[in-house]
Amino acid sequence: MQQPQTAIVVGAGMVGLCCAYALHLRGIKVTIVDRDPVGDKTSYGNAGALAISECVPHSLPGQMWSIPKWLLDPMGPLSIRPAHIPQFMPWLLSYLTHSRKKNVAHIAQALQAIHCRVSADYDPMLQSIGYADKVWDKGCIRVYDHYKSFKANAQEWQIRKQHGQEYELLGETDLRAMEPAIGKAKTFGVLQPQWRIIDDPKALVGCLREWLLSQGVALITANVEALIMQDKRVEGVKTPIGKYVADLTVVAAGAWSKQLAKQAGESCLLESERGYNTTLPYPNISLGHELLFAEQMFAVSPLSIGIRVGGASEFAGLTAAPNYKRSGNLLHLAKRYLPDLNTENGRQWMGHRPSTPDSLPVLGPSVKWRGLAYAFGHAHLGMTQAASSGQMLAEALLEPDKATDLTAYSIGRFS
Ligand SMILES: Cc1cc2nc3c(=O)[nH]c(=O)nc-3n(C[C@H](O)[C@H](O)[C@H](O)COP(=O)(O)OP(=O)(O)OC[C@H]3O[C@@H](n4cnc5c(N)ncnc54)[C@H](O)[C@@H]3O)c2cc1C
Repeated sequence: MQQPQTAIVVGAGMVGLCCAYALHLRGIKVTIVDRDPVGDKTSYGNAGALAISECVPHSLPGQMWSIPKWLLDPMGPLSIRPAHIPQFMPWLLSYLTHSRKKNVAHIAQALQAIHCRVSADYDPMLQSIGYADKVWDKGCIRVYDHYKSFKANAQEWQIRKQHGQEYELLGETDLRAMEPAIGKAKTFGVLQPQWRIIDDPKALVGCLREWLLSQGVALITANVEALIMQDKRVEGVKTPIGKYVADLTVVAAGAWSKQLAKQAGESCLLESERGYNTTLPYPNISLGHELLFAEQMFAVSPLSIGIRVGGASEFAGLTAAPNYKRSGNLLHLAKRYLPDLNTENGRQWMGHRPSTPDSLPVLGPSVKWRGLAYAFGHAHLGMTQAASSGQMLAEALLEPDKATDLTAYSIGRFS
């Protein structure tokens, strides 16, 4: 690809904004196009964790035997809407294939290649935009009912260890000393000190967007209907209010990216993996860490705007109405394990995680078209991986001497 002077980034979520930031830093004139730039995107309502140690793929050997149990439990972590099953099957089959040991090792390595640079890529950006003091080094505690449940998860801890991720085992006394709000049902914990917590993801995204605008990046409010394609080259985007042209177009439209990639003849397996949560403005407890309830698979995040209780994976496509019963179920579980939690006045939310079956984002230049690149599919880790995705993409496109290898994340892996 010839060195571009201008770029369009489709999508003003955290990933799109970080791509815009990385391109702008390198002197590219950037225009962001989003149909709802301030609206309620996935990057706003998430758990706010920079989950740096999470180099563990979602699909693991033996996990398929837990899927029926999860699906049958109405309080369980996984649901698939019946109407969505035919569309979902190819993704699910691919997901199961990725649980093979050989695939797991490759995926963990590719995740770690992003995660090992998260702070190095985030910190200068947070400094520049004036948000550095609002991302806290609090760490995370994974809490278990019993030590034997921790042992049962040995393979994921082995993967973290292999990749140099630190963790510390906490017996019942230490766990309760660190987090007195945790009730008696939990007797074991694992501290993962590298995790960092964004005080309010929506505020961070807003701050980054406003900073980019203050630096001359343009923002157009419009739906991107199609890519403009000519002579093996993408020249920009078509919207109802006009065409926008640029040397480089980056598709960073989260869970909605698949349609634009498909238009370019580059199919990928991307699903909306819906997550639900409730933000409690008056929680009546305070937490020093993010808490992950390991057996029940939900998270409790201490944010500046309250405590956020969330999780769940629901596959129902992009347009089905939310089922906020899932937010309620998670709150019910949280109350069971955090008995003094005040669950009144909660604000419920649902977001579309852009999920690939191999737990890796789609990052890098198009295989078929000049002038086109992708940055989507970050699933559960889009906030964690956003700054590095932007930098890695910009390096690969503009700084060949850095030799940032994006092969593992290429859209070509789906063909
Ligand atoms: C419950 C929950 C908890 C989570 N917790 C964490 C966490 O703790 N840590 C973490 O790292 N990640 C977390 N995630 C994942 C993270 O939120 C996502 O991976 C991330 O926000 C995806 O960002 P994005 O920019 O790719 O997509 P989005 O934020 O969804 O942005 C996509 C943007 O593209 C725009 N768009 C789409 N199509 C078009 C089009 N055709 N034309 C114009 N604009 C378009 C949309 O309007 C939207 O603004 C969580 C997700 C959920 C649901």
